[in-house]
Amino acid sequence: MTSAIILKSASELAIMEEANQIVAQTLCMLKEHIASGVTTLQLDQLAEKYARGKNAVPAFKGYRGFPGSLCVSLNDQVVHGIPSRKVVLKEGDILSIDFGVKYKGYYGDAAITLPVGNVDKEAENLLKITRESLYKAIEQVKIGNRISDISQAVQDYVEERGYSVVRQFVGHGIGQNLHEPPEIPNYKRAGRSPKLLAGMVLAIEPMVNAGGHEVKILGDGWTVVTIDKSLSAHFEHSVAVTENGPLVLSHGL
Ligand code: MG
Repeated sequence: MTSAIILKSASELAIMEEANQIVAQTLCMLKEHIASGVTTLQLDQLAEKYARGKNAVPAFKGYRGFPGSLCVSLNDQVVHGIPSRKVVLKEGDILSIDFGVKYKGYYGDAAITLPVGNVDKEAENLLKITRESLYKAIEQVKIGNRISDISQAVQDYVEERGYSVVRQFVGHGIGQNLHEPPEIPNYKRAGRSPKLLAGMVLAIEPMVNAGGHEVKILGDGWTVVTIDKSLSAHFEHSVAVTENGPLVLSHGL
C-alpha cells in the first residue's frame, strides 16, 4: 500500500468503469442463481467463469492466500467468508457477496447482500438500511468534502435506525491496486481526513450489524462474524470523484 492517494485520469476512469461493470454484471448474474439448495462454491465457480469469459481475472483469488473468487458471507458472517460446497443456502438466509476483478490493469470491486427466498422483517430491514446507507455515503462524494463526511453519513444513517457499523474493516481507494489509500471508515474517526479531489476512486462499503458492532475472525483465518451472532449486511460500490459529482463505476447493481 502506497501512502499517497493516486488520482486517475479520464481514460483511466473509463477502464475502471469497464472493470466495475464486469463486477456488477457478475453480481447481477449471481442474483438469478440465489436459491435454497445452492452452495456458495457453485456461486463462486459461476462468478469466476463469467468474469474470465469477459477477459477479467478474479481479484480476490490468491489475494494473501484467499482461496475463492467471491467472498460469500452468510447471516452473522460480516465479510470474507470462504466459498464452500458445505455451505448450502436455505430459505430465510441472507448472503453477502463481494466480488472484485482485475481488467486491463485496473481493479473493480463491489458487493451486495441478497435474501434467499423470503426472509423475516428484521433481515429485510437490515438489507434496506445498509443499502440506503451506501447511497447516503455516495451523496457525500463531492469535491471539497472530506472522507469523514462519507463516514459520518453512513454512521448517522445506520445508528439512527438502531443498527451498528463495523469498525475493524473499512472501505478503500482502488485503482491499479485492489486496496489503495485512503481508508474509508464507516464511522467518524477523530482527526482530519483527506479532502476529496477529482480523480479519486473510492470503494465505499458499509458493513452493518443488526446488533453490536463487535466482530471476530473465525479459525479459518478469514471469515469475519458478529460477536453477538446478530445478522450482518454489506453493500459496496466503487465511486469516482468528478467535477460533476459522484460517478458510480459499478452502477447497475
Ligand atoms: Mg472493497
